[in-house]
Amino acid sequence: MEERILIVGGGIAGLWSALALAKSGRSVTVIERDPPAPEGEDSADLAFTDWERRGVGHLRHSHAFLARLHKHIREWHPELMQDLLAAGCREIGFADNLPLALRETYVPAPGDEELTILTSRRTTLEFVMRRYALRQPGIEFVTDTLVRDVLTETRSGRLAVTGLAIERDGERQEWPADTVIDAAGKNSQLIDTLNERGAGIEEKTERAGILYFTRHYRLHEGMGEPERNKVPSAGDMGFMKYGVFPADNGCFSITIAVPEIEMELRKAIIRPETFDFICSQLPGVAPWTAEDRSTPVSKVYGMGELISRWRKLADDDGPRVLNFFPLGDSFIRTNPLYGRGCTFAAIEAETLVHAFDRTENPVARATLYFNNARGALRPYYSDMVKQDKAAIRRARNALDPDYRPKLRNRVIRSFAEDAITPALRGDTALLREFMRAFHMIDKPSEFLRNPGNIAKIMSVWARGKKRNARHYPPKLGPDRQEMMALLDLPATSDWERLRDAA
Ligand SMILES: Cc1cc2nc3c(=O)[nH]c(=O)nc-3n(C[C@H](O)[C@H](O)[C@H](O)COP(=O)(O)OP(=O)(O)OC[C@H]3O[C@@H](n4cnc5c(N)ncnc54)[C@H](O)[C@@H]3O)c2cc1C
Repeated sequence: MEERILIVGGGIAGLWSALALAKSGRSVTVIERDPPAPEGEDSADLAFTDWERRGVGHLRHSHAFLARLHKHIREWHPELMQDLLAAGCREIGFADNLPLALRETYVPAPGDEELTILTSRRTTLEFVMRRYALRQPGIEFVTDTLVRDVLTETRSGRLAVTGLAIERDGERQEWPADTVIDAAGKNSQLIDTLNERGAGIEEKTERAGILYFTRHYRLHEGMGEPERNKVPSAGDMGFMKYGVFPADNGCFSITIAVPEIEMELRKAIIRPETFDFICSQLPGVAPWTAEDRSTPVSKVYGMGELISRWRKLADDDGPRVLNFFPLGDSFIRTNPLYGRGCTFAAIEAETLVHAFDRTENPVARATLYFNNARGALRPYYSDMVKQDKAAIRRARNALDPDYRPKLRNRVIRSFAEDAITPALRGDTALLREFMRAFHMIDKPSEFLRNPGNIAKIMSVWARGKKRNARHYPPKLGPDRQEMMALLDLPATSDWERLRDAA
């Protein structure tokens, strides 16, 4: 008899897992608490303005989709790629993102096509994916339906999931299942419920250390995007990181990430006029938001409580729960700055289907899924957590007027700023290797393990600042003191408060 698979949540992870399982000939039912997207003439715009998604708080924050995700769609769902492009989603190639100096001498190399990213409003990607999923045999969507509980029993001393309790039109129903996929996102309650019943699923969380602020804009009729200039449209200024996200159908968004400890800045930036003023001070952003080019079409969305979280569902004794597979943010959460969440979910869906195709034994299936997901994703996760910790330290030091870095820290900083950065900005082949790791085509360790890459970086470092001058990034905008003064905000109060609290 065909196994009954229930998927909790029809967001990104629910969609990737439904599409992957249906492709392998299985039938799935996706249970989603929110209503379907409104259909109409300008569906992508309607999805952005009118789609009620109380279940996804970050739906209207900037999203970009890594090259690894683009590859997943190309290889697993080529027709979906056609739908996405037809709806206005954009492919941005490796050459399009090169620093200007490298673009002039760029010669395409085999593999560069693998470094194409996909961009759109998140609502557009999700709405097109949903519409495509609904056309696939084997995928059923049940919307406006809340999963309230998970049904369990104990089998041979292990907790096993046997179905879900759902609420529909105010009525509770129990739906039996052979497999439950938890794709209910970062606030999913299912693992907490299973732990209350003794599952013993451990998790480790790390702070991302930032808050996200996003505003959306639309280009005026007939107006194109600005020419890329010397100052990049994304950058890290220490006290803030910024990025322009080109999107579909003449839209784009800007996200400014502010360290959690920048209390004054984070309070001020939520005001649209302050957000736009900051944009006007950043040479890589200002041409986008200039009044004669575009107009804002949303409020400033703010989001905090950003964490990275890894849940350990299997250990040496095997899986903690049988017939239960979390995917997406309910399994692994990542700092949004890296743009990896949707790609992680797609790789988990690939891993899940491989495990399902290999065996029907519940213990072996779960063990395969969790071990392989760990092998595929943990290196990127660990690398990210390490970088986040360093960024949190840097943001804190930036507030301390008495901070004097120790020799070791000065060397590390110089290696990043005077070796890696100018080396990448001056060498297309090196940047290509770096991007392959960033976009999850290669493992992160491969870049620095390659002796050729290290030799190039070290020789740039040895050449010294003066001879590398043309490969340093231009000034991205006012420094912290200047920006705080421009915004009429106290520059030191945060540090005094922090120090007093310590
Ligand atoms: C600010 C921000 C920016 C980001 N930017 C990027 C980016 O640029 N690129 C990228 O790849 N990733 C990005 N991410 C991460 C990415 O958005 C997430 O990893 C992704 O949404 C995870 O998908 P998911 O399906 O697990 O969860 P979600 O997309 O949150 O979907 C969960 C779904 O489950 C439903 N649901 C929840 N509870 C229930 C219930 N009890 N019953 C029924 N349905 C339920 C919800 O309604 C929702 O539809 C960003 C994240 C944030 C917070």
